[in-house]
Amino acid sequence: MDFLPVFLNIKGKPCLVVGGGEVAHRKASVLVEAGATVTVVAPALADSFASLPRIKHVAERFQPKHLEGMAMAIAATDDSSVNQQVSQQAHARNIAVNVVDNPELCTFIMPSILDRSPLMVAFSSGGASPVLARMLRGKLETLIPQGYGRLAAFSARLRDTVKARITNPGKRRIFWENVLEGVVAEKVFAGDETSAEAMLLSLLENEKPEQTGEVYLVGAGPGDPDLLTFRALRLMQKADVVVYDNLVSKPVIEMTRRDAIRIYVGKKRDNHTMPQEEINELLVRLARQGKRVLRLKGGDPFIFGRGGEEIETLAEHGILFQVVPGITAATGVSAYAGIPLTHRDHAQSCIFVTGHLKDGSMNLDWDALARPNQTIVVYMGLHGLETLCTELIAHGLPGSTPVAIVQQGTTQNQRVITGTLATLPAIAQIEKPQAPTLIIVGGVVTLREKLAWFNPKKTEHLVNS
Ligand code: SAH
Repeated sequence: MDFLPVFLNIKGKPCLVVGGGEVAHRKASVLVEAGATVTVVAPALADSFASLPRIKHVAERFQPKHLEGMAMAIAATDDSSVNQQVSQQAHARNIAVNVVDNPELCTFIMPSILDRSPLMVAFSSGGASPVLARMLRGKLETLIPQGYGRLAAFSARLRDTVKARITNPGKRRIFWENVLEGVVAEKVFAGDETSAEAMLLSLLENEKPEQTGEVYLVGAGPGDPDLLTFRALRLMQKADVVVYDNLVSKPVIEMTRRDAIRIYVGKKRDNHTMPQEEINELLVRLARQGKRVLRLKGGDPFIFGRGGEEIETLAEHGILFQVVPGITAATGVSAYAGIPLTHRDHAQSCIFVTGHLKDGSMNLDWDALARPNQTIVVYMGLHGLETLCTELIAHGLPGSTPVAIVQQGTTQNQRVITGTLATLPAIAQIEKPQAPTLIIVGGVVTLREKLAWFNPKKTEHLVNS
């Protein structure tokens, strides 16, 4: 171990920063944030220092006298001889010193910080590769929710209460583990500390491990696992049971906890493996058993996903739940297909509809759809493609209006087939796109020729009319 990691209390302590540039500003800012009394020695200060009104500026070149009474010093000038001098003089006085980008001259180095105050994580590569330390920090940033700071503060507030009630340290540790992993923590993350506290007190009253189940209704995005939200990923790695259907891509399912039970309730058109009511009941049953249930939905759970119905049943049964939005097919798929849904020259509005056929027809407000300068995104529309195109033309859109079918967007099987309202039904007959497919109607489709960037299939067949 080359350096001893410590967390230093420097509140009110005099600290010196030598240098007036951007790097010096960054260092001074961190010191100010930690409550130090900061003096900056530099002939002139960069403009950014205006954001640090609490520092004392000494407009001089560095002299050893500036170190008098200092608890620590940071040399951040671009003159290596000055930096060296600061280091030497500080060493001679036993003052902790840091020289930017020069570990040999340092008694301490500044880590990369992940700040979830009061929770802090510091990363250091011992000066070997600050970039690597920063990258690692970035990775953990995605895994440690912002709410952890609040959770730590919440725990601090209730620590004595818990200690008074559970005197055995081993039992107390288990109690806290349950609380910090369970619904109480989730309530804190969701910003509802009142409920969180009430739950904790009730658990404390019964002094038994948390048994309350919960359902996470999570949007899994359109397929590419990179499009998951941080929150989705966290809950995916926490849940005991995963309930999913066939819109959720395999790579996404593989990111759920290895030992979680996976229940497939897949739905394909006209081939429902499990009726919606049974899915709703299943979620209630699992949560009642005390399980953390992940209900994974393709795209966004509230967009043509029946997510509303599922949580309605949960609410009726008093089951705890939370909803995590996902990237819906319209936004994810269009981005990967190079089709902006709105564009100054082509569309000032965009409308999402379901093209699901009921008794062979589509129940849509055709007059509202067949408007110029509007993009129409049709979910579940492939089966009714012909009806869709015919009706839009009958209600006034030109037959030459561009249309795209995007098959399995954002995945390695993405394929884009383009045509017009007049030609696409016949083209689709030949091309036979594979579900799921999204239909995009409007002038924006033409932008694809310029903007397409994601072409996973070399064989992709572009059909232009
Ligand atoms: N809740 C989902 C939509 C469910 S409806 C969401 O927000 O995206 C199912 C329809 O979504 C499919 O029939 C298809 O039209 C569309 N869809 C979902 N994922 C898709 C994908 N990767 N590529 C193309 N269309 C997709």
